[in-house]
Amino acid sequence: MTKEKWGQLRQRLLKTVGQNNYTNWIEPIEFRAANDGIATFDVPTTFLGNYVSQNYADLILHELKTEDPSLQRLRFAVPAHVGAGAEAAPAAEQRPEAPRTSKQAANNVLTTAPLDKRFTFDTFVVGKPNELAHAAARRVAEGGPVTFNPLFLYGGVGLGKTHLMHAIAHELRERRPEMNVLYLSAEQFMYRFVQALRDRKMMDFKEIFRSVDVLMVDDVQFIAGKDSTQEEFFHTFNALVDQNKQIIISADRAPGEIKDLEDRVKSRLQCGLVVDLHPTDYELRLGILQSKVEQQRVNYPDLEVETGVLEFLAHRISTNVRVLEGALTRLFAFASLVGREINMELTQDCLSDVLRASERKITVEEIQRKVSDHYNIRLSDMIGPKRLRSYARPRQVAMYLCKKMTSRSLPEIGRRFGGRDHTTVMHGVKRIEELKAQDGQIAEDLELLRRALEE
Ligand code: ADP
Ligand code: MG
Repeated sequence: MTKEKWGQLRQRLLKTVGQNNYTNWIEPIEFRAANDGIATFDVPTTFLGNYVSQNYADLILHELKTEDPSLQRLRFAVPAHVGAGAEAAPAAEQRPEAPRTSKQAANNVLTTAPLDKRFTFDTFVVGKPNELAHAAARRVAEGGPVTFNPLFLYGGVGLGKTHLMHAIAHELRERRPEMNVLYLSAEQFMYRFVQALRDRKMMDFKEIFRSVDVLMVDDVQFIAGKDSTQEEFFHTFNALVDQNKQIIISADRAPGEIKDLEDRVKSRLQCGLVVDLHPTDYELRLGILQSKVEQQRVNYPDLEVETGVLEFLAHRISTNVRVLEGALTRLFAFASLVGREINMELTQDCLSDVLRASERKITVEEIQRKVSDHYNIRLSDMIGPKRLRSYARPRQVAMYLCKKMTSRSLPEIGRRFGGRDHTTVMHGVKRIEELKAQDGQIAEDLELLRRALEE
């Protein structure tokens, strides 16, 4: 193995791991030497070395072995000359106040987890479900006086929490380069904490953490149940709040709902601004898809997307944005491979598994609930025996929707409407079908309800 050879192998890794991971993790490591079956790489920080070792070691070793089959193991080491001020690190390096030059010091440099270049405000599509979270993120990204502390963002998987946090970090770095902005996941926080304990470097850990201007901790639910990490987090948190430093936290649920989180931590987390990212709606999904298509254009300038495809996807894939994005990426890759345009047929072929997985099972109960809400009547009245028109019509609408939107049989539906006979259900469905053609109001109700149920 030689440095030149590594340079070539690296290019192959680029293809496997993608540009982003490559820039963040592979590019910063440098081949130093290989002997006794061990290949040694120089890494700018211990953190990076550990990360690469945990996530890419197999892949790297596999590539190296094509060149030198005797290699058995990889080692990542921080070279002695890399100090706090070294520029070799990826993404951003946080520098402690006092310049340190020893190898030890390098271990204490706080590394911001790599920021995804694509996660900026420019690429974040704003819609009703996320407008508040977006506005709050924009505000803290201005880097002005701290008005709410912490900013607590929460929401389900894939709704854009990490995207917004990275966007804040990018923006702050641009506007306020003098600020020490530290972004990391709660898991990394714990990892560094444990490492500091093990290496007896708690003083350094505290000192460095408390010297940041903006601290962002992603997925804080991770520290629930991890008592000593929680404790340390709490102290760090308080120290920063006392100094009026901005803290931004994300989690998959509201502070009060995180199990195994101490009450004092919960209440601390709640004392700033808590905003949630709601599940996406159809309009937002469509907006995101349109914006992602524009981004795909860079890679596939010639691919046409037939009208209707994006609408179809926005309609059918309502789980989370990550799945939506993945579907689109696959669609483009597939279309370019087979040299066809992206139309409905190709979409169905290429995404059948995703589409099947995200097929939502709508239940009779859901329909009953939505319909009774819509007509402002009690659920019990809709299901019960009353024959008043104001109950009977909604009942028939609900029966009709159950027939159209679930796979339940007429007798089954009848049973769930207070034990009615299947002929009653059949009659109801027919009646609504007739009315739909004549009565604009009914048609509109049906359309509204169908959309609400499909969200
Ligand atoms: P979370 O951290 O909430 O699980 P992420 O921030 O990782 O979710 O988002 C998952 C993916 O979806 C990312 O690729 C992100 O860019 C994308 N995404 C989520 N919300 C939006 C949005 N509003 N506009 C554009 N992309 C989004
Ligand atoms: Mg996330």
